[in-house]
Parts: sequence; C-alpha cells; structure tokens
Amino acid sequence: MNSISRRGFVISSAAAGVMFGLNRPVEFISPASAQKADKGFVKFKVGDVEVIQMYDGVWEKPHDPGFVKNASLDDVKAALKAGGVTDAHVPIPFTVTAIKSKGRIVLFDSGTGAQLQPTAGLIARNNTWKAAGIDPAKVTIIVITHFHADHITGLMAKDTNAPIFPNAEIHVPAAEYRFWTNPATTGGAAKRIQAVFPTWKNIRQFDGDKDVVAGVKPIATYGHTPGHTSYLISSGKRQLIVLGDVTNIPALFVRNPGWHAAFDADAQMAEANRRKIFDRAIADKATLTGYHWGMPGAGTLKKDGNGYAFVPVKA
Ligand SMILES: [Zn+2]
Repeated sequence: MNSISRRGFVISSAAAGVMFGLNRPVEFISPASAQKADKGFVKFKVGDVEVIQMYDGVWEKPHDPGFVKNASLDDVKAALKAGGVTDAHVPIPFTVTAIKSKGRIVLFDSGTGAQLQPTAGLIARNNTWKAAGIDPAKVTIIVITHFHADHITGLMAKDTNAPIFPNAEIHVPAAEYRFWTNPATTGGAAKRIQAVFPTWKNIRQFDGDKDVVAGVKPIATYGHTPGHTSYLISSGKRQLIVLGDVTNIPALFVRNPGWHAAFDADAQMAEANRRKIFDRAIADKATLTGYHWGMPGAGTLKKDGNGYAFVPVKA
C-alpha cells in the first residue's frame, strides 16, 4: 500500500484535472434529457438504516480515446450500448448518499455545489435537500471518500470558500488529507484544498479501520486517489458499503473491472481493491452505492463472466 510513487500520483492527478478543471468545452445537456435525468432523490432501507441518494446531475463527457487506458474507443462505445446507456458521449452521473440511523444523519461526500460544470449541482439548485427530508443545517456528520473536486466542492461556497456545513464535523482519511495538502500536489482541486482545509477547525482526520463515527467503518480502497476510502455500515446482518469511486459507471467498469479509467491515479492498485471489495460484497450480500452509478446508484453485484453485473435496488 505504501509503495506508491508520489510522481505517479502527481501525473495522474493532473490527468484527473482534465476532468474537473474544465479546460475543454463541456456540452450542455438538452432540456429533454435533463428532465429525464433529474429524478431528485431515492430512498431505500438496509436493515434499520434509511438510505437517501440525491441526484446532483450528469457530466456528458465527450469521447476521448485516452479515457479508458486499456480499451479502444470502439470497445467503450460498444460497452455503453450494451449497458443500455447512450454511446454519444460517456454519461457520468453524480449521486450523493446519506444515511439516517438512530436519529442521526451522516452525509457521504458533498456533491458539486453547482460549481463544476453546467450539468452538475442539481442538489443545490433544486434544493433536493428539502424534498429528500434533510435539513443541511442539521447535518452534523460528513464523511469524505476522497478529495476529487466532484466530491468536496459542495463543502465550500463559490468565490468565498465559506463552509457550507459549519456545524458539521467533516471526517477525512488522513492519507488523502496529507496528499492533497502537500504543496507538491497540483492538479484537480489541490490549490483550493491547500488554501481552505487547513483553515477549517471542523475537519477530523482518521487513520486505520476503527469506526469513524459509531457504525461507520472505513475500508481503505486506495488507488483511485492515494487515500481513497469506502465505508461499511452494518444493521443486523445487512450491510451497506458506500464505495465512492472504487469504480466509475457500471456499464463500463463494473462490467469490465480490469478497465483502467484515466481518473484512477494508481490503476493497478485501484483494480486490485475494486476486485477485492466487489468479491467481498458478493460474499456478504452487501448493498453497494457508487457515486457515479446514477439513480438509484445502489444495488448488489453478481459475477458475470469475467466481470460483474449490477442489480439496482428497488427504490
Ligand atoms: Zn468522482
């Protein structure tokens, strides 16, 4: 786990910056597909835990032959088609998961805060919070999977960087914090993170696999970023695993777990941890949520040939 070269991560985080830095034109979503895509939120239960997923929009990523490093563009398009989604571009949805348990709300990642690109930020713009029954002022626990901009920008106000959740404790993997706050790290949201996070008093770093808050256990799934972390929530015999970005959209990367997305900083490590947690989830019959899995962005997996098949929850 510790044999990662910083250089490898720096180069790859620059590649990820292409995704989030908006240094290329982003297509505007058509009104018709925006309407179809905007499902707002879904709710379902895992044991006694109520799970709420809020839809933050979609990035219609123009095709780029470098997106999947070890698959051709033709194979990517064929997989999109086979997965029942458009092959005109790569549709990458954003979906924020929250849980309600024992009178407490835990939010996993923050959404894009309507700051990244025109088709994201629906949670803030539509006030999905209210519809989903969550009062943002009452969110006191936020747990972060990793520091890519689409996961943390919703913590910070546009222009001023003022905290959007000043009353919340924000729990972050220490390895992720160390990497992104190191001045040697550039690309993605690095500069903003370096300017903002060290000034906030409500960030709590954690190491190891002890519960971050009661009932929320971290699982190190490094690779996508140096400290990328998933979370296990148990209720009786039922399990929910909040994957974060262990994998991107199911049509491509659940079906083909060996495909390496350009966003993965250490693709080999990301793949190894992806396969490990997928197999564990199947063995434990766990429900998984993926930040880029759409709506509902949750379900179970089963083995399917050389890959996996995603079976969405009924929500
Ligand atoms: Zn992401």
